[in-house]
Amino acid sequence: MTGAAPLLKLNNGVEMPAVGLGVFQSPPEETVPAVEAALGCGYRLIDTAAAYGNEKEVGEGIRRSGVDRGDIFVTTKLWLDDYGYDSALRAFDTSLGKLGLDRLDLYLLHQPVPFAQDAWVASYKAAEKLLADGRVRAIGVSNHTAGLLNTLVEHTDVVPAVNQIELHPYFVQSELRELHDRLGIVTECWSPLGGITVYRPQGVNGGRSVMEEPVVVGLAAKYGKTPAQVVLRWHIEHGLCAIPKSVKPHRIAENFDLFDFALTSDEVAAIDALDTGRRSGPDPESIRLDSFSRR
Ligand code: NDP
Repeated sequence: MTGAAPLLKLNNGVEMPAVGLGVFQSPPEETVPAVEAALGCGYRLIDTAAAYGNEKEVGEGIRRSGVDRGDIFVTTKLWLDDYGYDSALRAFDTSLGKLGLDRLDLYLLHQPVPFAQDAWVASYKAAEKLLADGRVRAIGVSNHTAGLLNTLVEHTDVVPAVNQIELHPYFVQSELRELHDRLGIVTECWSPLGGITVYRPQGVNGGRSVMEEPVVVGLAAKYGKTPAQVVLRWHIEHGLCAIPKSVKPHRIAENFDLFDFALTSDEVAAIDALDTGRRSGPDPESIRLDSFSRR
């Protein structure tokens, strides 16, 4: 155990840990031990999605860990294939069944679909129904830009508790974070270590990792920490939620060993200066219901 992650209060009072384990691209057979390892070293948030194909293994890892279900914050996401009111309700049941849970902590719309607004809004209304019925403790979205968030908020009743977005030192998303603060939305960062800039060929900076940046490497040396820990601490200093993915037990432990040091505001600003203003992931404004093959 390396201490507990700070808690972030959502707009309905529910508390969400500021650090969690992501499992995108975690092969099913490696997901059970990864979740177990994470919970064993103190993580209390697991982020999966219907599209990741490993909800069943996330549930298995949770059960094997022996940690009380009530102490764990579990997130999953609705995939585009299931957008629409009735289909979203069915997909939620399918996800819960795979996870082996009777209640979820956070349900997110995985993508905005500006070209299919009716299905997009209906899906969110289904999430509102699940919230009202007590089947999920909080609802939110992912990959919504400021414009798309405003559109959704105009057409629905419950302000999303969370927007999970690409956010790392190469893409700091200051303007969207300001909108989140105005609307009371918690910013949850995917690819917090900048993973997408490395594994996606179109990533910014030609596949370079933020963990190789001299400012990050220098701070790691100063604090006796690793570059990954410095980047994750930068998220914490900003009051963000980070969900690093790893299937390697030593990295899972490393990515949670963050609570015995702090960065100064100048050091945070020096990392902020790595911003390119360019995303490495898909452009949310151009997503259609058939934009992706199922991941
Ligand atoms: P991350 O920034 O978490 O980077 C993950 C990569 O970094 C993996 O290749 C991992 O490899 C490696 N890594 C992990 N820890 C370390 C370390 N300490 N030192 C060096 N390398 C390390 O990127 P992801 O894109 O995976 O994002 C994290 C999570 O965010 C996902 O798992 C998912 O839950 C969520 N996500 C959500 C999206 C959305 O559309 N809503 C999109 C993308 C991600 P290894 O496993 O071999 O350790």
